[in-house]
Amino acid sequence: MDSYLIQVNGRGDHAPMLDVHLKTNGNSISLGKVKARKPRWAVRASEMSKKTFNPVRAIVDSMKVEPNPKKAMISLSLGDPTVFGNLPTNDEVTLAVKEVLDSGRYNGYAPSVGYQSCREAVAAYYNCPEAPLTAQDVILTSGCSQAIELALAVLANPGQNILVPRPGFSLYKTLALSMGIEVKLYNLLPEKGWEIDLEHLESLVDEKTACLIVNNPSNPCGSVFSKSHLQKILAVASRQCVPILADEIYGDMVFADCKYEPIATLSTNVPILSCGGLAKRWLVPGWRMGWILIHDRRDIFGNESNADLCYAALSAIPGLQPVRPAGAMYLMVEIEMEHFPEFENDVEFTERLISEQSVFCLPATCFEYPNFFRVVITVPEEMILEACSRIQEFCEMHYQGAEGAQDLECDK
Ligand SMILES: *Cc1c(COP(=O)(O)O)cnc(C)c1O
Repeated sequence: MDSYLIQVNGRGDHAPMLDVHLKTNGNSISLGKVKARKPRWAVRASEMSKKTFNPVRAIVDSMKVEPNPKKAMISLSLGDPTVFGNLPTNDEVTLAVKEVLDSGRYNGYAPSVGYQSCREAVAAYYNCPEAPLTAQDVILTSGCSQAIELALAVLANPGQNILVPRPGFSLYKTLALSMGIEVKLYNLLPEKGWEIDLEHLESLVDEKTACLIVNNPSNPCGSVFSKSHLQKILAVASRQCVPILADEIYGDMVFADCKYEPIATLSTNVPILSCGGLAKRWLVPGWRMGWILIHDRRDIFGNESNADLCYAALSAIPGLQPVRPAGAMYLMVEIEMEHFPEFENDVEFTERLISEQSVFCLPATCFEYPNFFRVVITVPEEMILEACSRIQEFCEMHYQGAEGAQDLECDK
């Protein structure tokens, strides 16, 4: 049996970098005889690293200007509210973290989605009747940057495109290009308080559009969208069936005469991943605390995995006994051969499944385990459902109940 371990690591402050390790220790994999080769160092930068580009660093690092020596330098460039020490975080925040450290109870590995109590706290803070949230809908991340990275990775495949504001925060493009995702820039209109040019936005949508990034309140614009503008953005997303990645790291940071509306509170049908964190609102960017809030009231992202769908569909078929999987990409199905007397073995069963239904599953004799076949579950959902219904038709056609099987016995 093969076992796979896939690890994805964000690396410290190089958020755009992704380490992907694939380890396999299956005994069915044999390397065979390899010709002796003289080892030679050939360590090259990966394709991904070559596609990773931070425009801010590229521009700023190449600026070779010396400030006027007669005047003290005033830097208005870094979006870090802690630099001058004039905006300390609240004592309660510091105290809460001190208590956690002193307790000694949180020095171990947390669950990969975050501690339950912490997810509950974030859910309780953002939960409201218009956009209900439970702990299940909260994924804790290493800063909002990792939240954006994960959200992009889950929404878009290489070759697809995403819609990104111009002017906009550079991380979106940096992450997307490193993942092989195309970026299409939609315009913001300065004369309209940096509202989105909705016509331009909608004109960019095509069949490869995986998501729309909405950053509100905005970096670098400092703008806050009105409720009616957000509704118009949602109308575009809804019409075009494009999910939204909302970067709401500056949520609640609005001036007194203005109101911030979380975009998820204004829609019941558009699926929205809202990314946020403690960095800006609580003035602690170095703590790297972020989250994704999953708003998907119509279950458009899907709450049933292919494994569950496939298992449920195959369980209902007479003569088959699927074994519920817990990982990897496969599901094994036992064929109750006594109910299929026409077929000699799993190889013949799967051959006929191809010739009659054009569904190809490997007979488990390939894995030294006869009378089973293996289903690969990583195909698109519609495809796995169609395959299951064809397997059902096939089994119903050839299934012999207890009596049938006995008749056959008697004939012998
Ligand atoms: C600062 C910022 C982030 C990143 O937040 P971290 O929690 O520090 O990773 C994301 N989006 C925007 C628009 C930002 O300005």
